[in-house]
Amino acid sequence: MLCKECAFPNEPTQIYCKKCGHPIQSVESAEKTRQDWEKLPEHARKEFQQKYQKDQASSERHKVFLENNIRKHIIIAGVINIIVGLIVYVKDTPGIWFFVYFLLTAITGCLAGWLLNKRGGGALSGAFLIWGAYVIPITIQMIHINCLIGGDMRSGGLAFGLFLFPTLYGSIFTVGTGYFFGMQLDFDRFNRGL
Ligand SMILES: [Zn+2]
Repeated sequence: MLCKECAFPNEPTQIYCKKCGHPIQSVESAEKTRQDWEKLPEHARKEFQQKYQKDQASSERHKVFLENNIRKHIIIAGVINIIVGLIVYVKDTPGIWFFVYFLLTAITGCLAGWLLNKRGGGALSGAFLIWGAYVIPITIQMIHINCLIGGDMRSGGLAFGLFLFPTLYGSIFTVGTGYFFGMQLDFDRFNRGL
């Protein structure tokens, strides 16, 4: 039974998570599972027990892997976001704002890498986080540029037109990259035998 808080694979008879203490089920439902458990033949119980132990050891190893690689994941996500940000929108920011958006892009990218690591990976989490890290600064930048050049977004102003297509390409790129990045973090878990 996976803990909703920390994803630790607990035995189905646990009421609280072994790892973080978060409640995972009611006393009644744990008791019911325990009764079913008692009815199982000895060899089946042994088999299940071994499976839980294997899952738990693997979960621990994955956690260590994530902790050891958090800096790497932050840097990878930061670099992805800086590259796509520079290609798509940061380069169009005038003057000193260039550095402000460069920095903002680096920060949101690194933050996405940190969050993905804390979530333990996952293709969809990766896609959503890396895309979010890209789309938040570009949206701020679009509104900002519109104010600077006095474009009107509602009538399809200049900056909005410049914004739409690059944003679309950038979104496809970041969703794709994030998806594979998150999947890669998951693969690591499978590779080490879960
Ligand atoms: Zn837990």
